[in-house]
Amino acid sequence: MAVHAHPDDEATGTGGVLARYAAEGIRTVLVTCTDGGCGDGPGGVKPGEPGHDPAAVAAMRRQELAASCEVLKIDHLELLDYADSGMMGWAANEAPGAFWQTPVAESAARLADLLLRYRPDVVVTYDENGFYGHPDHIQANRITTAALELTGLTPKVYWTTAPRSTIQRFGEVMREFGADWEEPDPAEAAAMAEIGLPDEEITTWVDTTAFGGQKFDALAAHASQGENIFFLKMGKERFTELMGVETFVRVQDSTGAALPEDDLFAGLR
Ligand SMILES: [Zn+2]
Repeated sequence: MAVHAHPDDEATGTGGVLARYAAEGIRTVLVTCTDGGCGDGPGGVKPGEPGHDPAAVAAMRRQELAASCEVLKIDHLELLDYADSGMMGWAANEAPGAFWQTPVAESAARLADLLLRYRPDVVVTYDENGFYGHPDHIQANRITTAALELTGLTPKVYWTTAPRSTIQRFGEVMREFGADWEEPDPAEAAAMAEIGLPDEEITTWVDTTAFGGQKFDALAAHASQGENIFFLKMGKERFTELMGVETFVRVQDSTGAALPEDDLFAGLR
């Protein structure tokens, strides 16, 4: 079970493992917490610009999500359907119905029901900083942690992460492919340096290069979102080269599988 914040996060962070484990016959469940209404609208209209209608954006992104699930052969899609909270500091953070405004206990109880229904062997979500500080990603971590505590059933729990070596290479590729790429100012650069983990702290490296094409196609299903267009410009081969190995930090384990490991299901087979 992967717990994600928005439609498209399943493809970027976990598209490879979802496709790989589905191909192995493992049942996969995607929980998407928000409707993605603060994303880009049709024609690339940005939130806050005239003509940006969160309900229409959410409807479009729900269709994109369904297409992505089809590509990744996800067995069950569960939508918690909270309103997208937008980036930290946006007015949408405070809007009624926003995921960020919903008490953790309330949304965690809904997720706990799903954990009881599906009884996943492995749960994947973000780290406590939501990988890069987005409120909905942070909230996904909080409700998952609370729901896992309530149910106490899941043998292995992971947070997605990225090795700092890849993030560095990523910066180089951004410069190569991003026509409008600007060097980050020192504050942004410092924040970037905090993302991910030093390579030696990563516990789990899963080779999903054989599924890079599926991951790319899943992301292509979310082509309405500006950040994804950047990835798609790379083409399948470069994309797989950069994003083909998915990395995690294991935060809970009752199997005793030795670390580092190359399989989320190590110790469970
Ligand atoms: Zn997201």
